[in-house]
Amino acid sequence: MSKQTLSFQAEVKQILHLVTHSLYSNKEIFLRELVSNASDACDKLRFEAINQPELYEDAPNLEVRLSFDTENKTLTICDNGIGMSAEEAVANLGTIAKSGTREFMSKLEGDQKKDAQLIGQFGVGFYSGFIVADRITVETRRAGAKPEDGVRWSSEGTGDFEVETITRPERGTSIILHLREGEEEFLSGWKLKSIVSKYSDHVSLPILMQKEEWDAEQSKQVTRDEWAPVNKAAALWTRSKSDITEEQYQEFYKQISYDTTNPLAYTHNRVEGRSEYTQLLYIPAKAPFDLWNRDKRGGVKLYVKRVFIMDDAEALMPVYLRFVKGVIDSADLPLNVSRELLQESRDVKAIREGSTKRVLSMLEALADSEDDADKAKYAAFWRDFGQLLKEGVGEDHANAERLAKLLRFSTTHADEGVSFADYVSRIKEGQEAIYYITADSLAAAKGSPQLEIYRQKGIEVLLFTDRVDEWMLSHLSEFDGHTLQSVAKGSVDLGKLQDEEEKKQAEQVAETFKPVLDRLKEVLKDRAKDVRVTTRLVDSPACLVVEEGDLSGHLARLLKQSGQDAPASTPILEVNAKHPLVSSLASSERFDDLAHILFDQAVLAEGGHLEDPAAYVRRVNAMLIG
Ligand code: ADP
Ligand code: MG
Repeated sequence: MSKQTLSFQAEVKQILHLVTHSLYSNKEIFLRELVSNASDACDKLRFEAINQPELYEDAPNLEVRLSFDTENKTLTICDNGIGMSAEEAVANLGTIAKSGTREFMSKLEGDQKKDAQLIGQFGVGFYSGFIVADRITVETRRAGAKPEDGVRWSSEGTGDFEVETITRPERGTSIILHLREGEEEFLSGWKLKSIVSKYSDHVSLPILMQKEEWDAEQSKQVTRDEWAPVNKAAALWTRSKSDITEEQYQEFYKQISYDTTNPLAYTHNRVEGRSEYTQLLYIPAKAPFDLWNRDKRGGVKLYVKRVFIMDDAEALMPVYLRFVKGVIDSADLPLNVSRELLQESRDVKAIREGSTKRVLSMLEALADSEDDADKAKYAAFWRDFGQLLKEGVGEDHANAERLAKLLRFSTTHADEGVSFADYVSRIKEGQEAIYYITADSLAAAKGSPQLEIYRQKGIEVLLFTDRVDEWMLSHLSEFDGHTLQSVAKGSVDLGKLQDEEEKKQAEQVAETFKPVLDRLKEVLKDRAKDVRVTTRLVDSPACLVVEEGDLSGHLARLLKQSGQDAPASTPILEVNAKHPLVSSLASSERFDDLAHILFDQAVLAEGGHLEDPAAYVRRVNAMLIG
C-alpha cells in the first residue's frame, strides 16, 4: 500500500480538539495512557497466544521500552504486544468505533475539569499524546503478520492522518511523539521515571529505560545501550498484605479506576477452598456520573493466574454492587474462559458469593464502627450509593437481611441516617409494626395528613422518597419480627397504642355520622371506593388511602413517569369527623361541592394531580364568595 491520506471521523476531530485544549494542565497523563495501551496490547497478545503460541515469535518476554532523542525531540513508547494491521490502525486510531467513546461524546459538557476525568473513564487515551506532540507517528506490525506487512500511521492531530506500508521485523507498536516546542522537559530520564512511578508502577509488565551516565568529557548525561526496568511490575494484589503500604493501595486504586480521590475502603484477601482466588476490592468515595445506568460495565477486572482476561466481568459481582472496583485473580478458571462460560461456572459463582460477602463486610465495618471518621464515611457512602443497596434488597435474597441492616432512612424523628435498628430501639410500648409512608419528596412525606395521628402519639414513621423505595418495599415485608406497615394503606390499626376509651369513641362517631357518609358515598361514587370516618387525622379534614395490596397513588405516578401504564387503584376517602369542614357538612347547602372539594384536597395533599383542576377552582371560588 502506498501512502494514503485519510480524514479523521468528525467526532475524532472534536475529541482531539477537546483533549489538546482541556487537558493541558495535567499533561503528563499522556504517558499513563500510552503505557496503558501498550500494556493492553501485551495482554491481548498473551491472551491470543494461549491457543496460538507461535504468535510469540522469538520474543516471549513482553515489555514496554521508553526512549527519547534529545536532538530530534522525540519520545518513543515501544511495546512488543499484539500490534495492528493496516485496517486496525485506520479503524482504531482514526474513527470512533467503540460505543464507549460515542457515549463519551454525548456526555461532554464543556466543563473542563469534568471532561478531563471523562477521558480516563471512556479511554479515548491515545489522542492524549497530542497534548505534548505536534505529530505522532505510529509504527506497528501485528503479531503473526509478515515483516513486510508493517504499517506507519502519522498525523498532526488536526484534520487527517497518513498511512503507508512499511517493513517492520519486530512485532508490536512504537508510538513516536514529536514533542511540541516547549515540551522538552519530557526528554529527561529522570522526569519520565518519576511519571512512570506515579502512574504506572503496578502495570504488570516491565517498563524498560536505558541507563544514563554522566559523561565528564562531554559534560552531559549519555544513555547506554543497557535497558533496566523502572517500574515494580509485580501485580500489587499478588504481594503479601504486610508488604503493601496504604499509599500503594490508594495509588493502585487510582490507576485502575481513573478516580482522583482515595477510595473509602478496600479489602485484600487470598481465598482458599472450593475455589482459589485473590481479591482486591475497593469502594469508591464518590459515585461516577454513570452509576444509574444499570447496563454500565462493572468495575472488576478478571485475571487468571496473573494473566489479564477481561474488564468489567459482570459475572463476578451482582448488578447492585456495580460501584465496586478492583481485581479478582483466579487460580482455577481456564485461561480461555468466555463471558458465556463465566455465567455458568460454579467456580465463578463461588467467587461472586465470596466477593459480595466481602463488600458487605466492608460496609458493615464502617456502618457499625464506633469511630466518628468511619461513621462519617458510611454517611457519605450512603448519600452516594444508598439507593443501590435498596436495589440489592430486591435482587440479592440471600443477603437481604444483611442489606436491610445497612439501610438508612429519613423519619419523622430525624432527617437522615436512621437505621432499622435505631427505629426498633425507639419503638413505643405496645407498638408492633414499623410504620412508613411513601411520597414524591421529603416535604410531601412530612406534610402527609396520614401522619397526623402518629405524630400526635409520638410514633416514629419512616419517610420513603426514592424512586426505588416502592420496589424495595415489595421485597421487604419485615425487620426483626416487625411488619412494615404503610400508614396510607388499609384502616388505621394502632392496636395497643390506642386505649379502649378512644376506640369506643371512634365507633360512636362512626355510628352517628353514618347518614353523612352515605350521602358522601353517593356523591363521590365514581371517585372513591368507600368513604369512612378515621382516627388517622388530627388537623386535616380528609385524606386518601388505598386498600392493603392495592397500588398507591405514589407508585402509580412513578410507573406513569417511567412510561408504564398502571391505573391507580380507586382510593378510599377518609374523613375527620371532628374537623369543622366535615362536621358542618350535614347542614351545608352546598353538600355536593364540598364533598368534591374534600376529595380534591386529599388528592393535592398527597402530591397528586387533579383530573379537572378547573372544576376544583370553580367550586372553591363559589364557596369563597359565599
Ligand atoms: P482504549 O485504550 O480505551 O481502547 P485508546 O484511545 O487508548 O482507547 O486506544 C484506541 C485503540 O487503539 C485501542 O483500543 C487499540 O485497539 C489501539 N491501540 C492503541 N495503542 C495500541 C498499541 N500500543 N498496540 C496495539 N493497539 C493499540
Ligand atoms: Mg487506552
